[in-house]
Amino acid sequence: MPELPEVETTVRGLARYLDGARLARVETRRADLRRPFPADLVQVLTGATVTGLGRRAKYGLIHTDRGQSMVFHLGMSGRWRIEPEELGKHDHLVLETEAGHRLSLCDPRRFGSVDLVEEARLGKWPAFAALGPEPIGAALTASHLKAALKGRSAAIKLMLLDQRVVAGLGNIYVCEALFRAGIDPRKAAGNVSGTALERLVPQIKAVIGEAIEAGGSTLRDYAQPDGQLGYFSKRFDVYDRHGQPCARCGAPLLRFAQGGRSTWHCGKCQK
Ligand SMILES: [Zn+2]
Repeated sequence: MPELPEVETTVRGLARYLDGARLARVETRRADLRRPFPADLVQVLTGATVTGLGRRAKYGLIHTDRGQSMVFHLGMSGRWRIEPEELGKHDHLVLETEAGHRLSLCDPRRFGSVDLVEEARLGKWPAFAALGPEPIGAALTASHLKAALKGRSAAIKLMLLDQRVVAGLGNIYVCEALFRAGIDPRKAAGNVSGTALERLVPQIKAVIGEAIEAGGSTLRDYAQPDGQLGYFSKRFDVYDRHGQPCARCGAPLLRFAQGGRSTWHCGKCQK
């Protein structure tokens, strides 16, 4: 599943072709992904100029001079293809710019989505209204976490996966950040000390920042917009390394199920 770094990488890749471009042709090649395409999608986007691109959590944003933004989610298997030589049966939305670039949203499993939202109302859009701060950027601070986690008995790992606490932080990155900060993922969130949260915040920003730099993490179905596979070029410290030695202390790394997902950690280094 494309995680936040893949979405950020995708948006940066799309911006090279779309930012400032006029959309000469827009085509939907079926009626829906997870839900129907907006009825007026083609009408609103055709002839529009893209005024900027952005991202909120795992959603990509394409802003236009029509006051409307196209909001896309890549679901489980979505990716954008740049200049596809030919369109396949999984290319469901095609944008062509006046400069002659063609981009297609390819989504074999169709768990993705495309919406049109008034740009001025994006903050109130239901999927965005309750989101916590972005993990990269100034809004995520130790004091934000301290307030959000105060008195909470749920495990710190599960609270960090809650979109209302931090937006778009996925399982891989939560495991990695907790390892780097030396925090036991099972610890009650309200009991994590202020000092530990001060250590954690820069590690969250670092793991996400490094993944973006590496071009997004790895997933079978994910490819960068330029068509290269987005295999993660860096090694994770704990993710998917059950039984391998901890890079710090050499103890075998552990895995257990937490909230229906796997958590990897070092039982010695994380307290
Ligand atoms: Zn260790």
